[in-house]
Amino acid sequence: LDDRDGKIWMDGQLVDWRDAKIHVLTHTLHYGCGAFEGVRAYNTAGGTAIFRLEEHTDRLFNSAKILRMKMPFTKEEVNEAQKAVVRENKLESCYLRPLVWLGSEKLGVNPRGNKVHLMVAAWAWGAYLGEEGMKRGIRVKTSSYTRHHVNITMTQAKAVSNYSNSILANMEALDDGYDEALLLDASGFVSEGAGENVFVIKDGVVYTPDLSAGALNGITRNTVLHICEDLGVKLVQKRITRDEIYIADECFFTGTAAEVTPIRELDRVEIGSGSRGPLTEKIQNAFFDIVNGRNAKYSKWLSKV
Ligand code: PMP
Repeated sequence: LDDRDGKIWMDGQLVDWRDAKIHVLTHTLHYGCGAFEGVRAYNTAGGTAIFRLEEHTDRLFNSAKILRMKMPFTKEEVNEAQKAVVRENKLESCYLRPLVWLGSEKLGVNPRGNKVHLMVAAWAWGAYLGEEGMKRGIRVKTSSYTRHHVNITMTQAKAVSNYSNSILANMEALDDGYDEALLLDASGFVSEGAGENVFVIKDGVVYTPDLSAGALNGITRNTVLHICEDLGVKLVQKRITRDEIYIADECFFTGTAAEVTPIRELDRVEIGSGSRGPLTEKIQNAFFDIVNGRNAKYSKWLSKV
């Protein structure tokens, strides 16, 4: 990923892709205090547009606030930086990665005295869990790793350090022959995927864990809440047990990278018909209509680059 043409926005400037480098004594590299976003831009009929740009930037600022890092740029500058990288790299649709991190002025757990840096990169990235998975559904394993407790690392921050938990869970699931991991909270209730929020459908009602289960407040999750309201489908946020998923009719993951990905199996137990469910497909279609600019009600969520 590092050896290619293009531009990356780094601390206020567009630099050559290959020159976007940092020092080995970077504080964040050692102790993990940093935050990031995952954002997507879609090739809509009205041109390339970033989906829910402002909400992603707000969450980045909130993550920084939780981690007590002072953002070195304004929200307007961060929004403009994201538009600039899509334009400069001539991308029609892409994934964007803003990252805020601490510099290499000093080491030691106390991060004070290190400069706060910001970068934004963008590149083409297709279906995160595979095109096939989008249609047929993916196979998921309940992780042996517990999701972060809400008072250990802060779960409403999209913090760099939180992802060691995601990485362990994801590697375990892949090594065991599954596509992705599902993590339970410290009390044993369903929390979220390694990089996705989770939804369960039973008897026409859509359920998702409430955020006290330590799940990230996903922007795609929020988009699905709107979609359910528009479809007249009841949505309930509540504690969910893993066996509720075994006996559910349908199940799916949401995320900026994962979009809306059906889940056909959990722990080798087939969910419903064992393929993408009809309501999941409806929600998936509604999601792609919105992000691709085919639903005028949500044109406000699309920022032209
Ligand atoms: N949970 C985790 C742990 C994630 O990494 C992500 C991806 N950002 C999500 C949920 C989904 O969030 P969003 O829909 O905002 O991408």
